[in-house]
Amino acid sequence: MTCLFCKIANKTIPADIVFEDEAVIAFNDISPQAPVHILLIPKKHIENILEFNENDDRLLGKITGAIQEIAKKTQMDTQGLRVVTNTGEDAGQTVFHVHFHLLGGRSMQWPPG
Ligand code: 5GP
Ligand code: ZN
Repeated sequence: MTCLFCKIANKTIPADIVFEDEAVIAFNDISPQAPVHILLIPKKHIENILEFNENDDRLLGKITGAIQEIAKKTQMDTQGLRVVTNTGEDAGQTVFHVHFHLLGGRSMQWPPG
């Protein structure tokens, strides 16, 4: 098993975990791009958002619920947050286990680069 985020999900390699349930795990990004920069992943290996299927409805609900809970925990629910899932080469995806960047704690620009 070579996937970095699978290894984080099964605790083979350490991460600074901020939220976990049976389906998802969230941890601080090793190279934060904002005062709050958390990565939220399903524990199950899925390459990117295009690979979810109809059997993943419950998992997608878990992901949404985790985003809401983490936003509250980090006060990003009041000031705002940006949720990003880079998908494929052009978007700059570097780890091919789907992950949601939860970014906040500062104001941001649009459009992204
Ligand atoms: P992507 O570029 O695929 O959208 O995002 C991958 C993210 O994973 C990057 O923001 C990068 O900093 C983060 N990352 C890469 N390796 C590690 C690691 O070993 N631990 C943690 N916590 N984050 C990592
Ligand atoms: Zn994986």
